[in-house]
This record gives sequence, C-alpha cells and structure tokens, in this order.
Amino acid sequence: MDESQSGMVYLVGAGPGDPDLLTIKALRYISTADLILYDYLVDNRILSFARKDAELVSLGEPYTGRKLKQVEVNEQMIIAARSGRIVVRLKGGDPHIFGRLNEETTALSKANIKYEVVPGITSAAAAAQVAGISLTDRRNASAIALITGHLAHEHDPTLPALDFKKFADFQGTLIFYMGVVTAKLWSNALLDGGMSKNTNVLIIQNATLPDQKIIKTTLINAEKKIKEENVKSPAIIIVGNT
Ligand code: SAH
Repeated sequence: MDESQSGMVYLVGAGPGDPDLLTIKALRYISTADLILYDYLVDNRILSFARKDAELVSLGEPYTGRKLKQVEVNEQMIIAARSGRIVVRLKGGDPHIFGRLNEETTALSKANIKYEVVPGITSAAAAAQVAGISLTDRRNASAIALITGHLAHEHDPTLPALDFKKFADFQGTLIFYMGVVTAKLWSNALLDGGMSKNTNVLIIQNATLPDQKIIKTTLINAEKKIKEENVKSPAIIIVGNT
C-alpha cells in the first residue's frame, strides 16, 4: 500500500493520574485520535478528553487474565494505522520508563508505521511532589536509581536478573516501581547488602489521585507495613535519606 496514505501512532505519556499533569501535546493528541489504546492505569478523566466518536480500547488489567499480550497490542496499533487511523497508545506516567516502549517502537518501525513518542510526568516525580520531598539533595543524594521490583527474568530466565543487593551501597535515592508484591525480596536484599535498617522508606500509593495514600516507614519495617496498611499497586517506594 502507499505509505503516504497510512495513519500515525502517538505513544503518549498520560502522567501519574491527575489530568492537570498531562502535557499540552498529550492533550492535543488524545483529543484528536480516532483510536485510543490505553493502559489500565490511565484515569477515566483523561479518557474523557477523547473525541465523542473515538474508539477507546482498554488493554486490560494485570493479574486478571484479560490483559492483551504485547504482540496483540502491537498488531492492533499496526492494523489501525494501516487503515489510515490516528492512533494514540496511552501509557501511564512516561512511556520511556518501564513502559515497554522499545517493543512497541520496534514493531512499528518494522511495519513501516510512522510514530511519535510524547513524554509524560513519571510517577516517581509525582510521588516526590505529593510526599513533599526532593529526590536529590546536593548534600547527600547526588544520584537516583529507578528500579523495577517486577523482573522480566521471573517469566523468562534467559533474560538478565537484577541483583537488588548491589543497590545497598548506591550513593543516592532508590525508587522502586512495581515493588509492592516483591517488597520482601528487595528489602531483604538491601539489608543483606548492608543498608541500614533505619533507612527511610516512603510508600506513595495512587499519587495525585483522589485516593492517594502516603506511608512513612523504615527499611526493616517496610514489608510489614505494606501488609498492615494493605498497600496495593500502583505505588512508588522511595528508599533513602533525602
Ligand atoms: N511508565 C510509568 C511506569 C509504568 S510501571 C511511569 O513513568 O510512571 C507501573 C508502575 O508505575 C506501578 O506499579 C507503580 O509503581 C507506578 N505508578 C504508576 N502510576 C502511579 C501512581 N499514580 N502512584 C504511584 N505509583 C504509580
């Protein structure tokens, strides 16, 4: 087919939840798209900016068995773009951070589909703001590590594992995404690696959303506290002394 007739895919960061934290570019693309394929974390208020006749497709929630496979998501984007539609692939936070961006852009490139990535406010930045802390401090935190608690290695052992212990002497702030379920694993590893049991831990659930919750604890108590307070995903966990 004539490529000039084909549509376009925008891979758009929806930010942490609060619609006011969308970029102007994100808002523009959301409000003009023919098809919006959105992650479960994307807030309904953001979807309400879509055209009234736009098609909105949820890609499903994790752990429910309804979630579309990555290849199926890629396929939907490609089919829609080939038929000349403007597609927005809406992702929580920033698409570059734990957003499987490479898998999607590679598939689009291979299929010769034009795309543009729109960055968004990542949940770590939003979590820091609502908790009233700075993620860096020139006196004691000159670096930040963004870490996933949920490793692809667990599903596919040929992929590299991540040794959480090695972050015990990281000279800065540790930020865990998807770290609720694996709290025991990473907190024990950090303690094993020699990190102080009194290191501050902040857990921010649903940052910027109406049901946001902020819990302050220490490394030794983190896992217990997560259970006691019934913390659920999505939550950002910040470990360090800034
Ligand atoms: N690309 C996203 C991250 C996707 S991974 C970003 O840049 O934020 C999904 C994880 O993001 C969740 O498990 C949680 O750790 C975090 N997250 C997303 N939205 C959040 C929110 N509103 N509050 C706290 N954590 C959030």
